[in-house]
Amino acid sequence: MLVGKMVSSEVDQKRQVPWNKGKKTGKRPPRSELWKKKLSDSLIGRDSWCKGLKLSDDYRKKISSGRLKSIRENPNYKPSTSYVAIHAFLKRNHKRPKKCWWCGKECQTEWANMVGVYTRDVSNYRPLCRQCHMKYDQRFRRKLRMMFEQQLQQTASMRFGG
Ligand SMILES: [Zn+2]
Repeated sequence: MLVGKMVSSEVDQKRQVPWNKGKKTGKRPPRSELWKKKLSDSLIGRDSWCKGLKLSDDYRKKISSGRLKSIRENPNYKPSTSYVAIHAFLKRNHKRPKKCWWCGKECQTEWANMVGVYTRDVSNYRPLCRQCHMKYDQRFRRKLRMMFEQQLQQTASMRFGG
C-alpha cells in the first residue's frame, strides 16, 4: 500500500490514515486532495473547543492529585468545607453501618449531621435510614441531637471513668 504518497500539505501528513483507507466501503466517495486542502484551510484559525475554559495546568494537576492521593494529602484539604464535599468525603472514607442509628432498621443508611457544623469528623455524624434522615431533617432534629449529646456524655464518662 502506498499510504501517504498522495498527501500534499503538512496538515494532511499529521493526520492519521483512516481505518477504511483503500477499502471499498462504498459509503462515501474518496475526498479529493483539493477538498482536503479546502477543509484544512477552513479549520486553520478556528478556536480549539476548549479555548476559553478557565482550567489552568495547575488546576488540572490539583484535580488529578485530589483523585489519586488520599484526601489528607490533598492541598485543598480543609477541616470544614461544604455539605456536598463532606458527604462525598464520608462516603469515600467511612463505611456506613447497615443499621439505622435511630430506628434500628437494617437498611441502606446515610450520614446525618448531628452538630450543625459540617466537619469531616465522622463522630459528628450518625447513620440514619432514609426515612429517619428525612424525618430528622424535618421534625425531630432537636430530639435526635439530645440523644446524640447524651450518648456523647455517656461515652465520655465511660472513657474517663466518671
Ligand atoms: Zn431509621
